[in-house]
Amino acid sequence: MTFRTHMDAALNEARAAAARGEVPVGAVVIGPTGLVIATAGNRTRELNDPTAHAEILAIRAACAALGQERLTGHDIYVTLEPCPMCAAAIANARLARLYYGASDPKSGGVAQPPRVFSHPQCHHTPEVYDGLSAETSETLLKSFFAAKRGS
Ligand SMILES: [Zn+2]
Repeated sequence: MTFRTHMDAALNEARAAAARGEVPVGAVVIGPTGLVIATAGNRTRELNDPTAHAEILAIRAACAALGQERLTGHDIYVTLEPCPMCAAAIANARLARLYYGASDPKSGGVAQPPRVFSHPQCHHTPEVYDGLSAETSETLLKSFFAAKRGS
């Protein structure tokens, strides 16, 4: 099987989030055969829910669609480095691989401290691939926050 990135779908979710006035982050869960299981963008404002990050919503939707509590063998694409909460959720979901775009020095929890996957309390570590379409993802975030400051 040749590698096919699903970051474009995640970026579309991020753009849709921005259009809703949400921080533009998108996530996509892919099944073992390459099928898109769930897509989501941030909805913290809309749902009045601080845990409604794109990754959490995509993981919940994928588990609900499959009727299972884990996503063993599945991959997740996220436009931005997951925060510690989402990194923990990714580990708990037993996702096989994490692909992400821009790094997040301020709120990331994968490459930045607390480096959730390196914790002894973390019982599952996905393969991590970073920097996919990082520039596009970063530009989306920057223009979103620049527009917010301007208004
Ligand atoms: Zn998060």
